[in-house]
Amino acid sequence: MQWEPVIGLEIHTQLATESKIFSGASTAFGAAPNTQACAVDLGLPGVLPVLNEGAVRRAVQFGQAIAAEIAPRSVFARKNYFYPDLPKGYQISQYELPIVGRGQVEILLDDGALKTIGVTRAHLEEDAGKSLHERFSGAGGDLTGIDLNRAGTPLLEIVSEPDLRSAEEAVAYARKIHQLVRWIGISDGNMQEGSFRVDANVSVRRPGAPLGTRAEIKNINSFRFLHRAIAFEIERQIELLEDGGSVVQETRLYDADKDETRSMRTKEEANDYRYFPDPDLLPVELDDAFIEAATADLPELPDAMRHRLRDAYGISDYDAALLTASRATAAYYEAVVDRTGDAKLAANWINGALAAALNKAGLDLSESPVSSEQLAGLIKRIQDNSLSGKIAKQVFEALWAGEGDADRIIEARGLKQITDSGAIERMIDAIIAANPQQVEQYRAGKEKVFGFFVGQVMKQSQGKANPQQVNDLLKAKLKG
Ligand code: ADP
Ligand code: MG
Repeated sequence: MQWEPVIGLEIHTQLATESKIFSGASTAFGAAPNTQACAVDLGLPGVLPVLNEGAVRRAVQFGQAIAAEIAPRSVFARKNYFYPDLPKGYQISQYELPIVGRGQVEILLDDGALKTIGVTRAHLEEDAGKSLHERFSGAGGDLTGIDLNRAGTPLLEIVSEPDLRSAEEAVAYARKIHQLVRWIGISDGNMQEGSFRVDANVSVRRPGAPLGTRAEIKNINSFRFLHRAIAFEIERQIELLEDGGSVVQETRLYDADKDETRSMRTKEEANDYRYFPDPDLLPVELDDAFIEAATADLPELPDAMRHRLRDAYGISDYDAALLTASRATAAYYEAVVDRTGDAKLAANWINGALAAALNKAGLDLSESPVSSEQLAGLIKRIQDNSLSGKIAKQVFEALWAGEGDADRIIEARGLKQITDSGAIERMIDAIIAANPQQVEQYRAGKEKVFGFFVGQVMKQSQGKANPQQVNDLLKAKLKG
């Protein structure tokens, strides 16, 4: 019998404001520990939080980007729990009335189909500090340090519906949200620095049955680990159930070294947190003008742009999706199309040779040694027949190596395509004269031999003879 996995994600993304959500302290990453936590972040007596408008604006922008309901009135609540890196003893979050209500995003599945994933809500909250275990153990005992710099950094928690049915779908959805928050510029999405963290809720059931009991895997900070953690957890639950056991609702941790999840604690229920409205903060009331201004600042969204590129340029959905992976990629593509007027060649080169080279070097497009202008210069030489596709690859490699722009490389390396038909004819005549046996075979009907002649001409011309001309002239001459 089959089991159906059911997954819902809670994504925490740090909002890219300069200062914290309720104080003026800096949110910059990497400062010396405890140099960026002010009295408000520490929850010292007598201080009052003041809401950062920039965090609210970014939450509204996210809501608009997923076509969600924006709550005209939302409320901050205290979520009470004890943890050493939570100095106030509670986290300011939103509970019953979040700022962003129901919305949705589309994900592209492996088979090319689109699937709509519901977003239940997105709410504003403050981040906690960090417990540092590594640096302190060994120095005369197992000590844990506390760095409160992160306390009070604004977070948007984005909660999905349990609409995901596999680890692959969950990763596609997480990537989609990651693309979106970076695209609209509300978060840097830096996963190594913890700006984008995913909790995965996983259960399995018989198809058609009610939802099974879920386990929640906390704080996953790479897409690869997200996939592995969910895949492991699905298998664990299926084995457990098939052995007659039952899944307990609990919080689990993914251990990348062992590639397994293990129990951290049994899951709290909402009432364990004793939520209540924060008496120090007014409800957030948004007027239309604020929402309109925030919306007006949004760029063209990735899905809209993907459709536009596909329809305007006649490229595939797949190519359009790759070209809108980030705003930088889309801008690069549009710049190359502007300069060359050839949307398909531009897509092929960016998604082909350039993407492969970037991937191999572990570079982001923003770090590409080949500028959009340089790639356009190469494509122009293909368009005007100066370069064959094969030689163009060599020129690309030289561009990548920093040998200057395409024209200079073609000149310096003598790579210009031979389109002088007289010159090509002379080569062909010599080859025909030197290979009478093959000529005879060809004329006797062995068409395969044609490839041999093409190869000889290409060899002699060092790949530079125009392939179309070589074909036409060879055919004419071999007829005899
Ligand atoms: P919390 O984890 O704070 O208790 P919720 O009950 O709202 O919050 O659920 C959090 C996440 O768990 C959501 O993304 C939701 O889609 C997902 N979820 C809820 N029930 C299940 C289930 N049975 N299996 C998998 N995911 C689930
Ligand atoms: Mg949860």
